[in-house]
Amino acid sequence: ALVQSGEKESMCSSSIGDKCTENHNKYSKEANDWHSRIKNQIQQALDEYKPCMAKNCSCHKDVLEKDLLPFKGGITKEMFTLAQSKGTKYQIIDGKLYRQKDCHFPARCAGIEHYIKSLSPKLPNMELAINTRDWPQLNREWGHKPAPVFSFSKTKEYYDIMYPAWSFWEGGPAIALYPTGIGRWDQHRLSISSAGDKWPWDKKEDKGFFRGSRTNEERDALILLSRSNPDVVDAKYTKNQAWKSDADTLFADPAKEVSFEDHCKYKYLFNYRGVAASFRLKHLFLCKSLVFHVGEDWLEFFYPSLKPWIHYVPLSPKASQEEIMKYIMYFKEHDSLAKEIAERGFQHIWDHLTDKDVECYWRQLLKKYSKLVKYDIVKDYNLEKI
Ligand code: UDP
Repeated sequence: ALVQSGEKESMCSSSIGDKCTENHNKYSKEANDWHSRIKNQIQQALDEYKPCMAKNCSCHKDVLEKDLLPFKGGITKEMFTLAQSKGTKYQIIDGKLYRQKDCHFPARCAGIEHYIKSLSPKLPNMELAINTRDWPQLNREWGHKPAPVFSFSKTKEYYDIMYPAWSFWEGGPAIALYPTGIGRWDQHRLSISSAGDKWPWDKKEDKGFFRGSRTNEERDALILLSRSNPDVVDAKYTKNQAWKSDADTLFADPAKEVSFEDHCKYKYLFNYRGVAASFRLKHLFLCKSLVFHVGEDWLEFFYPSLKPWIHYVPLSPKASQEEIMKYIMYFKEHDSLAKEIAERGFQHIWDHLTDKDVECYWRQLLKKYSKLVKYDIVKDYNLEKI
């Protein structure tokens, strides 16, 4: 097991040798330096933080402006043709929504259509290429040309325009607990936040917690830490549809899945990227637990409104087991600080990621997008009315 700070100190205090005193002093100095570094980072973040007071989705408006920036010179027919080869084609004509017949993931298309169909009557004519795959399509670093493909998640290297994922309504990953797919964010907001109320901060176990499959090896360090220090972290791999052997659960039996509501029992909840961003993140905040968000590259549209140290604890995907341990120990020792960050995180998601915000983001995104289109939209009779 990894040595914890308390253990190291008591080992030393039982000894009287000079060497031990020297090591002890060195260790205490390192721990103090590290503690003050975290404290300074939190203080600096608080000094710079301006809470977003808006009541509509304008807390996220910088994101859509940034995503549309590569298209400020206008979107041409050629650009749309390229985008169309990367996504599902939709048109809005005279207030009605149409889609190409085949959709690779019908439940995902349904989750998208729930929002855009109800917005269509008030939107101008337009056509869209919506990518329903997990990963984005056009990477500037790989020499791709800009084209307006809508994707739910990306890193800043991509031209893709982020839209609110289908899983806000339906079509999220299907696991045994959510056999038809994680969805209905509006319902989860209520059920998970009331589970959070049943587990107020002081009743929560002060342990790190994670359940999920090995969609990304970045998760391994936490799983291994949990195996060596089960009193500090409870993190286990579950089976997903791609599971072939116990190698996919890092040579252990797959763990039983745990509902988001049951995550609320723990103080420190971990989020990792999966193939792209993981749908997990928004749910974790609803428990009023402290969210440890690992890695900052993979985004969904609402991520930039969340600020490190204000709403969550940022961790590097390269953090070793020892480093993860140090962060957990820090917040165990600074419990009121942990609680404050957890509460701010909850409040931000509660206030600025409502189902209305999601609909509002879609509306603003589509309106701004359509203003950039430079060619005439011609009705495509191959599409089906939704
Ligand atoms: N999930 C869950 N309980 C579990 C395992 C997974 O609620 O025990 C959720 C998880 O939070 C995520 C989704 O199921 O939203 C898929 O999780 P997984 O780790 O398999 O993949 P990810 O999408 O995170 O890469």
